[in-house]
Amino acid sequence: MIQIRKKAIAAPPAAITDDSTVAKAAGGPKAPVAMALQGTGRSGLPKGLKSAAPAARPLEATATEAAATRTANPNLANPKAANPKAANPKARAAAAQTRSAKALPAKPVPPPGPPGVAPAIGAKLAKLGLRTRFDLILHLPLRYEDETRITAMADLVDGAFAQVEGVIESAEITYRPRRTLLVRVRDASAVIHLRFLNFYGSQQKALAAGKRLRASGEARSGFFGAEMIHPRYREVAEGAPLPTALTPVYPATAGVGQGTLRRVIVDAIEAARRDGALGDTAPAAGGVDLMPFAEAIDALHFPAPGATDGRDPRAWQRVKFDELLAQQLSLKRAYRMRRREQAPAMNAGASASLASLEARLRQALPFRLTAAQERVSGEIGGDLARAHPMRRLLQGDVGSGKTIVAALAACRAIDCGFQAAFMAPTEILAEQHYRKLDFWLRPLGVNIAWLSGSLKKKQKDAGLAAAADGSAALTVGTHALFQDKVNFRRLGLAIVDEQHRFGVLQRLSLARKGAQGTGGTMQPHQLMMSATPIPRTLAMTFYADLDVSVIDELPPGRTPVATRLVAQSRRDEVVRRVRAACEAGRQVYWVCPLIEESETLELKTAVETHESLSVMLAGLTVGLVHGRLKPDDKAAAMTAFVAGEIQVLVATTVIEVGVDVANASLMVIEHAERFGLSQLHQLRGRVGRGAYESVCILLYQSPLSQNARERLKVMFETTDGFEIARHDLRLRGPGEFLGRQQSGVPLLRFADLEADTDLIEAARDCAQQMLDAGDARVEAHLERWLGSREAYLGV
Ligand code: ADP
Ligand code: MG
Repeated sequence: MIQIRKKAIAAPPAAITDDSTVAKAAGGPKAPVAMALQGTGRSGLPKGLKSAAPAARPLEATATEAAATRTANPNLANPKAANPKAANPKARAAAAQTRSAKALPAKPVPPPGPPGVAPAIGAKLAKLGLRTRFDLILHLPLRYEDETRITAMADLVDGAFAQVEGVIESAEITYRPRRTLLVRVRDASAVIHLRFLNFYGSQQKALAAGKRLRASGEARSGFFGAEMIHPRYREVAEGAPLPTALTPVYPATAGVGQGTLRRVIVDAIEAARRDGALGDTAPAAGGVDLMPFAEAIDALHFPAPGATDGRDPRAWQRVKFDELLAQQLSLKRAYRMRRREQAPAMNAGASASLASLEARLRQALPFRLTAAQERVSGEIGGDLARAHPMRRLLQGDVGSGKTIVAALAACRAIDCGFQAAFMAPTEILAEQHYRKLDFWLRPLGVNIAWLSGSLKKKQKDAGLAAAADGSAALTVGTHALFQDKVNFRRLGLAIVDEQHRFGVLQRLSLARKGAQGTGGTMQPHQLMMSATPIPRTLAMTFYADLDVSVIDELPPGRTPVATRLVAQSRRDEVVRRVRAACEAGRQVYWVCPLIEESETLELKTAVETHESLSVMLAGLTVGLVHGRLKPDDKAAAMTAFVAGEIQVLVATTVIEVGVDVANASLMVIEHAERFGLSQLHQLRGRVGRGAYESVCILLYQSPLSQNARERLKVMFETTDGFEIARHDLRLRGPGEFLGRQQSGVPLLRFADLEADTDLIEAARDCAQQMLDAGDARVEAHLERWLGSREAYLGV
């Protein structure tokens, strides 16, 4: 065949129901992942291959459109419109929790659909997350098709999108290979067939011989020569004018076809233009070349012919910049608003004295704080002394010693006459914190309450009472801490460990607890901790409303953990190594494979692994801990391990976070290829906590997927949490990286965190300037970009 120009990949367009298959393929309450990294997020459009294998093409196109459909996931647009089928029960619980919190504003009723759109269509659009006029205007095409010209049938190229025009010679139904409406169309150069597998009887009648048709779609060489399967077509008069701009193809969903989308989007753009609402809402940003917004919108929705290969880069730049600016404005504004809220000022005065709890705890510690711990402690202390609520994120790699920093902050609160709460995401971790804090603080006269979901009623009531009457200066617990019935008399500081495990809403509800205790006027300070270091661009874009402290050094005397990759076939050798370690007086973690599809299966594997290792390691004490164990048994197993009575602890990922046993020097992770990077990093962080040389063995099963291979390689090559996080972000995309529950902050649809660093910085500076100058365009910009979504931000 003949030479072709580069083409955008075209999914076979259908005349009747164009998008339903795509929408189904995209289906499910999948996290709004990766939009910055694929599909619409890329600066260019997917490029067609010159002559890719036909079978591969539709698939590829579908995947791309699926990604784009997720972009428009209603969950993203409105995280509170919680999908009833949402995969995460915790998120659901949190949403329910928050709804019932008295102090919260009533849940806003989502507007039916964009203005000027028929209600039936509006409701469907609303499902796509398209509720306002600007939602439509900013619903940008996924790709374009060129219907501005006609290709002679003789010049069609296999696999390329084209538009042809010709006269129908015949339309008949054939039954080989299956029932098909086959329409023969001729132009001056050749004959082709249009092939419809799903069609109405009326369609056959409409496609009567002698009619003139314009059809567009992907050409391929088929059974009867050149053909188009399910082309888009319409009847035309000879010489009917051609469109002058490319035809946009939008991310779509079931029930709203491309035609409808195009129509409502054009209407929205035109209405906005008439109202003069398309003007720029941001000042010229230093150093970035930005096309005016109105021009950018035209260039992206209706590009001139010839621009098929990609979006106009300047227009695209404008959209990305504006999106980032909206996010920065929103977060920074939330940050400023907090300065107007009241929180108890906890002056260093009380705690500076030698008699203070803070001073006595320092005195009692068997170690000295590292310089980094001292520095972040100072930063936290500075915040606590102010009469505005602190929202500080304390980042520090696994093992960097965040707990003691938090404990010192709690002491400050207690010294100043307030209560502190310490929340951890898992029972094991919360319990471990409880024990450690109890060990540190009880001798100093601090009463600590313990609250977890699985406590017996009597114990729970005791904990609740102690929190409510103020007799517990410190309350430690799991999610149980932010339930409605938990009340504090004077909550001054809430500490949230492994904060990425909690949703924004859960944190919010903890903040409300303080308001209750202080007569509704004060919020508690919040200290959030994370061992998942957040790469800089991500921190800038998603945590712009938080202050961040980083512990960037490990306590002295740690020996780095050596990592070995070992094939599953050499498991026996690994078992021998476990025995050797135990005989040398050390302890070992054996982590069972993650089985995402089935918790039952995972459990079964854990039990079986425990049994088989007990046999293979006869003479050693092998313990087992997993999520389904009764809390008492779980605690007993952990206590025995801490005490050294258990030498090998077979465990599921329940030990993933926080667990701290310095004598454990060997960790074996079975089927390491199934774990995510940050999970592996967390797990590996359970060893190397003492002075012993530690080893982490990653047992893997071949063959490895490309992605798994990369993950294992990263684990092998580095122990630096920041480096690992960077790779993790690259491999998973920001949505998954931040965790589903973080989606209270809308993810970026257009900007790309890796590629757009310059834009992110420019947007950040621009937002700062606009807010400092009280720029009147701030509101307009936020309205344009976030519309009804803004209510969900800034918690
Ligand atoms: P993470 O930051 O992962 O939460 P932890 O707070 O659990 O780390 O601390 C890890 C271990 O290091 C604990 O046993 C803790 O007591 C110990 N530790 C903390 N700070 C120091 C220090 N400055 N010197 C020595 N050991 C420390
Ligand atoms: Mg910790």
